[in-house]
Amino acid sequence: MVFSKNYIFLAVLVFIVLMLIAAMPLGGTTLAEALACIAAIGAAGWLGWRLFIERRMFLVQVASLRNDYKNQCEKASQSINDAKDFKLQLQLLKRQKRNTEAIIYSISDAVIVTDASDRLIMANEPAGGLFDFDVKGAMLKPMEELVSSGELKKLIGSSRNSRTRHVRHELQFESGENTQTYDCIISCIYDDDDQVCGVVSVLHDITREKEISQMKNDFVSHVSHEFKTPLASITAYSEMLVDGEAADEKTRKEFYSIIQSQAQRLNRLIEDILNISRIESGLIKVNKEAVSTALIVRDAAQMVKSYAAEKNITVEDQTAIVFDQVYADKDMISQAVINLLSNAVKYTPNDGKITVNSEVDESQQVVRVTIVDTGAGIPAEELPRIFEKFYRVKANNKFAKGTGLGLNLVKQIIEKVHDGRVFVTSQVGKGSCFGFELPLLATVKTGTR
Ligand code: ADP
Repeated sequence: MVFSKNYIFLAVLVFIVLMLIAAMPLGGTTLAEALACIAAIGAAGWLGWRLFIERRMFLVQVASLRNDYKNQCEKASQSINDAKDFKLQLQLLKRQKRNTEAIIYSISDAVIVTDASDRLIMANEPAGGLFDFDVKGAMLKPMEELVSSGELKKLIGSSRNSRTRHVRHELQFESGENTQTYDCIISCIYDDDDQVCGVVSVLHDITREKEISQMKNDFVSHVSHEFKTPLASITAYSEMLVDGEAADEKTRKEFYSIIQSQAQRLNRLIEDILNISRIESGLIKVNKEAVSTALIVRDAAQMVKSYAAEKNITVEDQTAIVFDQVYADKDMISQAVINLLSNAVKYTPNDGKITVNSEVDESQQVVRVTIVDTGAGIPAEELPRIFEKFYRVKANNKFAKGTGLGLNLVKQIIEKVHDGRVFVTSQVGKGSCFGFELPLLATVKTGTR
């Protein structure tokens, strides 16, 4: 703007000077006119010089502005590039965060990540389920608010303070009536300056492992106990025989028969344990042939009748002899039926009743064996576990000693070896119905099942 004004001013002066020069030849030139003329020329010269200087300055300023502009452009493009890099890094970080979250969410163990102030920064559903908080709404909330377990909070705090890399502890949490045991690993997270910036807690549910190990311990003590009783009487009666305490033949025979029955009891126990482990490992020799379940059931019922009679329990066999052949190992099916029948006798109080039946279900193409008793029954919540190895119903322990292996052996024989199905229904105080189904021989041969 300054330069355009100067140009106008200069143009006016040049015009005046030109007018003067043009006016001089027209008349006599006076001194004043000449001076005016010189002044005008001087002014024009001075203005010309100013114009020259101003133009130089103008060009210098334009060059500097151009430079500035170029620098700004470079800076802007640098900023754009930086912004692009930043955006990329942000996307990368977001993706990494999503991946980390996906990994943590897919872990079945409970995972809790807290920051340096013990506020929640990440948790998965199992953690929310365990401590009863909503995972999405709990972010950045203090652990104090979210987790009731004082022990876990203490562990997180002490790991953070002591900067321990990994700490492992076994924690127990109450859930309703049950106690759950967790193997808890707490690890510190370090930042670039090697300062603890957070803590990761991973809680692995070991309740089942604990139960199994408890069951194994119980099993060992049960088996030892079961072994001890017959062994003690074998030892006692054989000692009496050696010491000549059995004076007559009748007493000797009685002692021999006690020793024999106790030895058989021991044998059965060992057989049960071995059979289960053989079936589980697939090492058992199976001799399958066409057999009638009705005949097997009839023989087994006959066998337990004398045992049941000791408790005045009647055994009623309703099995009709029909064509009910299955492709099975006779001894094994026999063993399964005997196990179910002897349980029915064991867990039925005196004067009870056991009803046995084997029938063909044409619609399902199976033979169904049922053993119904009027015994102690089994609580509904324990029924799903009744066929587990070593599982015994506490409330029924008073009725008989046992190892909790009989029903598991039945299940293995029916389901694993014969492709059948075991089932049970029961009512506490009223009785139980145990049974199994086996595919009919025709279906096995034609392969329709
Ligand atoms: P065991 O009889 O040696 O304990 P089993 O595996 O045969 O082991 O049975 C497991 C548990 O199931 C038993 O301890 C008992 O509590 C329960 N049970 C089995 N059969 C019956 C039954 N007919 N009536 C009531 N309870 C039963």
